[in-house]
Amino acid sequence: MHRLNLWRTCLVTVLFSLGVVLLSALAGGVLQGWPGIVVAVVAGAGAGYFLWRTLVLPAREAERETAVLTTRLARSQAEVANQARTAVALRQQTEHLRSLFDLASDIIYVLDMEGTVVFVNQAVEEIMGYRPEDVLGKHFLVFTGGIDEETLWDQLNQGGISRYEFTFENHQGQHIILELNGHFMIEGDQPVAILGIVRDISKRKREQTELRLAKEAAEKAAEARTVFLANMGHELRTPLSVIIGYADIMGQDALSSGQDEYWVLAQKIKQAAQQLRTIVNDVLEITEIETGQVSFLLETFDITAVIKRVVNSNRTAVEANDNELLILVPPDIGFMFADQDKVQRALENLLNNAAKFTHNGSITLSVTRSTGGGQEPEWIVFQVADTGIGIAPEQHEKIFHAFEQVDKSFTRGYGGTGLGLAINQYICRAMGGKISFTSEAGHGSTFTMRLPAKVTAVDSMYVRA
Ligand code: ADP
Repeated sequence: MHRLNLWRTCLVTVLFSLGVVLLSALAGGVLQGWPGIVVAVVAGAGAGYFLWRTLVLPAREAERETAVLTTRLARSQAEVANQARTAVALRQQTEHLRSLFDLASDIIYVLDMEGTVVFVNQAVEEIMGYRPEDVLGKHFLVFTGGIDEETLWDQLNQGGISRYEFTFENHQGQHIILELNGHFMIEGDQPVAILGIVRDISKRKREQTELRLAKEAAEKAAEARTVFLANMGHELRTPLSVIIGYADIMGQDALSSGQDEYWVLAQKIKQAAQQLRTIVNDVLEITEIETGQVSFLLETFDITAVIKRVVNSNRTAVEANDNELLILVPPDIGFMFADQDKVQRALENLLNNAAKFTHNGSITLSVTRSTGGGQEPEWIVFQVADTGIGIAPEQHEKIFHAFEQVDKSFTRGYGGTGLGLAINQYICRAMGGKISFTSEAGHGSTFTMRLPAKVTAVDSMYVRA
């Protein structure tokens, strides 16, 4: 529509008045000339202004108001549509949350500040046997019976309830164990509700009890095994010592009466009995280690004397494979402070292995004292090197593990239990030392045992409780 303004309205009215004047002049000759024109202009302007104020302006105002109202209406409609969308989204979200809560296997609850249940999920039915609608609007103590309310409030005030356990008799009359967690929901800085989770931990508790009972049973069995083995050890060692002793006497007798073939037989009996004694000792010792039943006797002893005993007890084994034995011990090697029997036992095992895995070769047993200088502690370094079969690199990792043997020595005819090196490693570590080796398949091995010249303490984890 063509829009009118004040000037245009007046102009139209003036022109209209002039037209009227012109027509009336033509018709009757009244108000001719300038006065007629002036009257026509003034009357036209007045009439124009009047028309503008009474008709056009209110019309325009009304039009503007309509436009404003239309805009407002459109905006309100958009807002309403928006709110409707938000309400739908919120409803959907609430539904999702509700179905999520209902999927949960733990009870999720909200209590008001008086302890009345205002929300609870479906799990309450499965765990406690109540439908959510039975619980809603009621105080939580109605369902939880023997719970200590005071403790719960205390915990809530101190940051939250954490793993509060209580027993509950469910609808089937079974006593279940529940674990309660909860904390305040805060709005502004005021607690407005309590939100939490209740979990059925009966199964976990049962498993824990079963595990504890199984552990106790296993410990008892292990204890019984240790006692049995200790007794058996004694029963086995005694006859073996008798056999070894008599084989020795018989051998000596045979030798002095010139019956060499009997001497050889007696030697064989002695060797077999010694082998058996080593196996018995190994098995007993690893059992003691595994059950933490080892004791250490620390004392000062002459290193050379120990080396002599080690060599004597292994001479037969070394010579059996036509090996040459070289002993390198400095005359001033002196004394050390450690468990003498255990050092001897570890050296015997190394020498025995060297003798076992070397044929027509040489074995060198050496001892050195390494001085760190100044305040550094002194070490005694025992080394057993052989020119035997050696150990392939892929086996290096496992030879210190109990019962591990490269290629299963039993089947290859070397004998042994696979326990010797595991025991050696234990002995060295317990006394603050270490055992290592270098070896190449087909080119022999060198085992090195470093022990403190003065063992100050035996690592507590290795000592009999
Ligand atoms: P075992 O009673 O079998 O000798 P050990 O624990 O003393 O048990 O040794 C574990 C394995 O390490 C042996 O079976 C053998 O395969 C390997 N081994 C140990 N010492 C030597 C050696 N000097 N030469 C070659 N192989 C060795």
